[in-house]
Amino acid sequence: MKHMLKSFSLWELLKGLNLTRKKLVSNKITVQYPEEKTPQSPRFRGLHALRRYPSGEERCIGCKLCEAVCPALAITIDSEEREDGSRRTTRYDIDLFKCIYCGFCEEACPVDAIVETRNFEYHFENRGEQIMRKEDLLAVGEKYEQQIAQDREVDAQYR
Ligand code: SF4
Ligand code: SF4
Repeated sequence: MKHMLKSFSLWELLKGLNLTRKKLVSNKITVQYPEEKTPQSPRFRGLHALRRYPSGEERCIGCKLCEAVCPALAITIDSEEREDGSRRTTRYDIDLFKCIYCGFCEEACPVDAIVETRNFEYHFENRGEQIMRKEDLLAVGEKYEQQIAQDREVDAQYR
């Protein structure tokens, strides 16, 4: 009976029209990208970066945890021991066409070396450019270090 009444009174249609009426007078949420941008979370997962310590030393110790945890098999690492006994990578590649931006690599990293920045505005023009090499990743890290450090501080409050 209730169902029939709703059908005959066009209840669903009225509900829809009511929603339209409310949205007509509410604030518009259309964003004129790229001039306008929406707020971003400090946990935003964009372009990857490798970080350095303030001394300039690479953070990455070549433990390969990120490579092991990556579900997309997007990371390839080679490492070797230095003369001082420390271990560092000789190769660190991320294939951004394979990456699903899950953030597992940064979660797994014990030294906060691999991170995902807030940068989502990047593109490739030539075949092969989607593979970010170690030098590219370190360069991104240097460029965004201030923002990365700030975001890590904010994030630490919620852990
Ligand atoms: S974000 Fe996920 S898929 Fe991308 S490299 Fe890291 S672990 Fe792999
Ligand atoms: S980025 Fe982190 S998890 Fe990956 S190899 Fe380097 S230290 Fe290990």
